[in-house]
Amino acid sequence: MQLKPLGKYVLKCPRCGYEVEPSPYIMRCPRCGELLDASIITEKIRIKWGELRGRGVWRYRDLLPELKNVITMSEGSTPLIRLRAYPNAYVKFEGANPTGSFKDRGMTVGVSLASSLGVRGIIVASTGNTAASAAAYSARAGIECMVVLPKGGVAKGKLGQALLHGARIVEVPGTFDNALEYVLSTVLESGSAGNASYYPLNSINQWRLEGQKTIAYEIVEEVGVPDYVFVPVGNGGNIYAIWKGFGELMELNIIDKMPKMIGVQASGAAPLVKYWRGLGEARVDKPSTVASAIRIGKPINWYRAYRAVKYSNGFFIDASDDEILMTQRVLGREGVGVEPASAASLAGYMKALREGVIDPSDNVVLIATGHALKDPDALLRDSVHTVSISSIDELKALIMGRSIIDV
Ligand SMILES: *Cc1c(COP(=O)(O)O)cnc(C)c1O
Ligand SMILES: [Zn+2]
Repeated sequence: MQLKPLGKYVLKCPRCGYEVEPSPYIMRCPRCGELLDASIITEKIRIKWGELRGRGVWRYRDLLPELKNVITMSEGSTPLIRLRAYPNAYVKFEGANPTGSFKDRGMTVGVSLASSLGVRGIIVASTGNTAASAAAYSARAGIECMVVLPKGGVAKGKLGQALLHGARIVEVPGTFDNALEYVLSTVLESGSAGNASYYPLNSINQWRLEGQKTIAYEIVEEVGVPDYVFVPVGNGGNIYAIWKGFGELMELNIIDKMPKMIGVQASGAAPLVKYWRGLGEARVDKPSTVASAIRIGKPINWYRAYRAVKYSNGFFIDASDDEILMTQRVLGREGVGVEPASAASLAGYMKALREGVIDPSDNVVLIATGHALKDPDALLRDSVHTVSISSIDELKALIMGRSIIDV
């Protein structure tokens, strides 16, 4: 191949420092087993920040793998919405991506790579959004997609999307953690994907995460470097990817400070909060939360997420299901529709403000990871406040009467 798709990278072990030539198939350190970082080789990067062209993830192609077949649906370039209730907070609305979550940023890179490799298809374990995105992007690429899901644990919108886009859906008992174990044990022995005909695209895959780091680039282009970035954390890949994105801009002298990365977990599924507080390993056995996208007990990227938070001087914080659902409504009343997991970032911000660990004058970006329509059941949990009438006069009376805006 004349094109060197991964030529601007070196794979580096964050634990033992071992370095490996980049390969689509190597994900763990051959020496110590840690997940490898796809580090850019700064001297090989020729990016002119002020002269970027195009939109979305591939606007930053100079900082991404150079692939032959780019499978894209114009993902990225999502809105940054300033909140009325918190004027120093912006919501990065990832629900505006083609399948309604940030996973599309990763899949455009991951599926393009898989397609360039000529594999038969891709395989993912998923709480739902990865499945929806993998299904859509592999459909676009004309390759197969197998999704392994926790039976009964996937929000309806996401399951419907995976079906719509023609994925092969395999359900396993237990939680996402079990589903991931099935996939990793099948196609990823000792961190190498071998030459599996189904290429694995969970967030253990560093090349997928390269797409997700573009969230940081977009924030910098639009508002510069915030003081804090709040990210809902499940498997921990996304907070790491965003941190890596900011870090690269530091290395390239495009920015001169880092934001503090704040990881938010649901109280019933908070292995990283537990570890952060020194209460044992980063795992919990029976994760439970209404926020199904982050209902994860054994985050595969826990060390990546931990580094992002620790080295940026951030922290981990948790939010209860009640806080998450309340916050989902706060965003809803501002016109921003997100699924429960995504509301966790605002829930974490509100809690951090209450506890005085951050100041209302600090600039923050809250990552709203997925769209409200993903999980219709969460929207309809409370008794639905409708008024039934059967005459036009009743409607007139309602209009003349008290404010119809229910607050
Ligand atoms: C995948 C997902 C997350 C968690 O991201 P990780 O990279 O697993 O930490 C959070 N929210 C939504 C909506 C997601 O789809
Ligand atoms: Zn190592």
